[in-house]
Amino acid sequence: MSAYSYNMVPRDVPKVNTKFRRIATKIPVPESIPILEVLKRCEPISMTGQPPVVWDRAEGFQVFDRWGNMWLDWSSGVLVANCGHGRDEVRRSIVEQVEHGLLHNYCFPSEVRAKLVEKLVQISPKGLDKVFLLTTGSETIENAIKLARTYGRRKSQKKIGVVSFTNAFHGRTLGAQMAGGIPQLKDWIGAFPPGFYQVPFPDGFRCKDQSFSLFLETLRKLGIDGSDIACVLMESYLGGGASFPPKEYVQELSEWCRRNEVVLIFDEVQAGFGRTGKLFGFEHFGVTPDIMCCGKGITSSLPMSAVIGRKELMDLYGPGEMTSTHTGNPVCAAAALSSIELIEREGLVENSRRVGEILHKELREIRERHDFIGAVHGKGLVAGLHIVKEDGYEPDKERAFKIVERSMEKGLLFFSPVGYGGATIKICPPLNINESAVMDGIEALEEAMRES
Ligand code: PMP
Repeated sequence: MSAYSYNMVPRDVPKVNTKFRRIATKIPVPESIPILEVLKRCEPISMTGQPPVVWDRAEGFQVFDRWGNMWLDWSSGVLVANCGHGRDEVRRSIVEQVEHGLLHNYCFPSEVRAKLVEKLVQISPKGLDKVFLLTTGSETIENAIKLARTYGRRKSQKKIGVVSFTNAFHGRTLGAQMAGGIPQLKDWIGAFPPGFYQVPFPDGFRCKDQSFSLFLETLRKLGIDGSDIACVLMESYLGGGASFPPKEYVQELSEWCRRNEVVLIFDEVQAGFGRTGKLFGFEHFGVTPDIMCCGKGITSSLPMSAVIGRKELMDLYGPGEMTSTHTGNPVCAAAALSSIELIEREGLVENSRRVGEILHKELREIRERHDFIGAVHGKGLVAGLHIVKEDGYEPDKERAFKIVERSMEKGLLFFSPVGYGGATIKICPPLNINESAVMDGIEALEEAMRES
């Protein structure tokens, strides 16, 4: 796949000044170029993939640079700032924990970790009674696979299969990348460890057949059945496209897993903590997984992730056998507690549902006006605009990047396009966004589309 490079030459763009967006300089800002150059010199090229906006501060649903520009943020970083960027309550809890004087305690007990795991159990569905805190989303996937395989092998030596979905993204570490469904991303692995299988994700656009019989048929073609499978790993929505599977499909899958003693794992790294208009994404399907993997929005800020699962799985390892250096870091734990409390107190899950409906209605109307939007997927405050070529199907990465670049020039910030063919523009603002900010962003997005 050819990489898209943003224009790094500062150029005049029309001035913007709305309640939510302000562009007062050339873009990229001339004074920001030395910072961008240092990063380019000292970091891997892979880190240069985002629009050239040098973040100075971020508050609520806005990002500010040092030179008077203000972006309406439709990225949440990368779906992290669920309760809003830099909320006072989150900052205060971090500062209080720091000033209290405990910055690290490994797996030694701490009160703040106890409070957090108790809170997570309390908000998780019944049956998911134990929490293992980690640092990144990828680690939760590695851990969930390990638990499921450990469990499977106690039943039979060959029950190790990990079934996941095409176009899925679960992280960049070895196991998570093997479970991912994007072949180009695992090319580097060279020799694939056995036991990883992908079945089509029933998104209704790239895969028209949304029946569960396609799952069974694919297993048959792969020559495996439930006795070979330790777990099915599924994103609650396909992260790259914001695509949801049909409810009936997931219900049948859940039932099939139960019958075949296969561990059902939901990757909630993106979907969790209110993103889709429910606290957890799988609630849309009326099922409960055996394990869920959480990350990103769990703190709305500092790095933390969590594997939350059934006791019989989570307790497979003995004292000291399943640990991590930074598990439940006290400062991150304090941030998670205050972020979760804010999401609850301010009704941000409901706000995500309500404002999300307004967003999706607008996006459906925009789609009517532009043939290059092949599909609009998503629920709540996550949406994926699938940008396509004239045939209505082939991904148009070039145009998707142009729309993101033009939007940045107008004070509307997205991360770079992702998903199938790198041509999906993801819309994922902090969950405290309001209707008028959504409408303001829609105006900028339409302008950007007209110019791309
Ligand atoms: N799962 C999903 C669905 C994700 O979106 C991501 C990150 N984009 C991950 C796992 C990996 O998380 P991390 O980057 O924190 O390792």
